[in-house]
Amino acid sequence: MPDDGSKLRDVAILADEGAEVSVEVAVSRMPRLAAELAASSGVARGTVRFARDRGFPVADVQVDADVTVVCQRCLQPMQTHLEAGSRVFLPHSEAAAAHVPEDAELMLASEGRLRLGELVEEDLLLVLPFAPLHDDESHCAQRDQTAPAEAESAEEVQRPFAALGDLMGRAKRDGPKRR
Ligand SMILES: [Zn+2]
Repeated sequence: MPDDGSKLRDVAILADEGAEVSVEVAVSRMPRLAAELAASSGVARGTVRFARDRGFPVADVQVDADVTVVCQRCLQPMQTHLEAGSRVFLPHSEAAAAHVPEDAELMLASEGRLRLGELVEEDLLLVLPFAPLHDDESHCAQRDQTAPAEAESAEEVQRPFAALGDLMGRAKRDGPKRR
């Protein structure tokens, strides 16, 4: 059975075993992530592989989830797919954390223990789009029932700006995604 993210796991043991743990964490169990979303529905699924790196227990997290965010153009809820994947160092104390390589991601595993849900949540927060937009701009226009009729011709005139805004949105959205 996959780990639902709520159980405290001993990361040193998992690292020494080279354990590969299947995870299935409900978005509703990840309050900091849920607070950024339009709905707390959805489940993050994937695997967490443990190993040692420079003596530290590390977790290679690979999860994805379909979540509901708010389109920043039409302010309607929309589904988006999140894919997170990174190596996270898991020092057991602040003192040990000081020796983790500077550019590495880390999460404190207090007394060597950690809930995998927190690890998954942290990784998904890193890939959450800053300004999500519907891929198809016409989708936003259809939903916007309060727009006056002349808005359409105005939009035609401002086409270059609209395209630029779209590009900028895309750059932001792709920004935090790694690999
Ligand atoms: Zn939209």
